[in-house]
Amino acid sequence: MNPKIWLSSPHMGGNEMKYVQEAYDTNWVAPLGPNVNGFEEDLQNYTGSAHASALSAGTAAIHLSLVLLGVKAGDEVIASSFTFSATVNPITYVGATPILVDSEKDTWNMCPVQLEKAIQDRIAKGKKPKAILCVYLYGMPGKVDELMAVANKYDIPLIEDAAEALGSKYKGQSMGTFGKFGILSFNGNKIITTSGGGALISDDQELIEKSRFLATQARDNAPHYQHSHVGYNYRMSNIVAGIGRGQMEVLDERVAQRRANFEFYKELFADVNGVTLLEEPNEDYYSNYWLTSILVDPAKTNGITREDIRLELEKENIECRPLWKPMHMQPVFVECPFYGDGTSEKLFEDGLCLPSGSNMTDEERDRIKMAILNVFN
Ligand SMILES: *Cc1c(COP(=O)(O)O)cnc(C)c1O
Repeated sequence: MNPKIWLSSPHMGGNEMKYVQEAYDTNWVAPLGPNVNGFEEDLQNYTGSAHASALSAGTAAIHLSLVLLGVKAGDEVIASSFTFSATVNPITYVGATPILVDSEKDTWNMCPVQLEKAIQDRIAKGKKPKAILCVYLYGMPGKVDELMAVANKYDIPLIEDAAEALGSKYKGQSMGTFGKFGILSFNGNKIITTSGGGALISDDQELIEKSRFLATQARDNAPHYQHSHVGYNYRMSNIVAGIGRGQMEVLDERVAQRRANFEFYKELFADVNGVTLLEEPNEDYYSNYWLTSILVDPAKTNGITREDIRLELEKENIECRPLWKPMHMQPVFVECPFYGDGTSEKLFEDGLCLPSGSNMTDEERDRIKMAILNVFN
């Protein structure tokens, strides 16, 4: 059996150990220290966000963003339905109800038209949503101008789940820097990783400082342990932040490598009828192409489905995944109000994520190519 080709696996740059060793040698083995500060600075410089707080996970960052916006039990928060469950779960941590909104077809991200419909209907039903949580899947920026216009029109803060979109830009500006908060993730499969970790970014200094306070058990300024807020243990460790600093040195290289994967697949499918890729709609969009993703239309492929491709690749020990199953189709969120027109359901039915690691070799690309050509011949 050939060795496994992963969808997306960690890819170290080389300098990570230098920072980790430094932390060890100086005994900064704690959820604070020079690597945490350095990593936060790196994130600020890279994204152009004025402030960043490094946290234990992207999910923790989403949770804190909702706490910082004062979202409480009984409130409603609008979220993209087509996403990973980690986008939506934290809404329930604060006791609020997720209001799920469908995708549009160009970027697969939150549809601004359905968003406005949802807001108007929720207001008509008596509750104005407290926040909008939009996601940028597979690295593709969403329709930022339109989403921001709706958010501003109704004066609802926008939280951008950019967990998959570090290195992506809209009109030259980093994802996660348009709304009130941006969320980043450094889980093992993301474009860069700290093994596990996340960050909250914002131009609002007070809120980012408050996020650090809440993330370290909300300790008031006193010599004894004094608390006037409920706190969390969400800070990033200085050890893993060292990995993050090393990874930031190679982030641009990783983006270039993932974009090269996309070009490889684009060429591979150029002559295949019925297979389309998720692509930048125009030059305003710059995707890190974290995962190259395709749609397979069996009506045009002589009946070949995305599942046929997935199973053939699996046989060759090549990992592929269907696109995210929308949250409004998940048993856990099926009762949540949903505003949509079937777009994300169709994406789930026909879509597939292809191996997209930045560490993929030419030999591995050849194996993928052979397996895919096998399906279509
Ligand atoms: C990975 C991911 C998250 C969660 O990040 P963690 O660091 O794993 O908690 C949230 N949203 C999306 C869209 C993700 O892909």
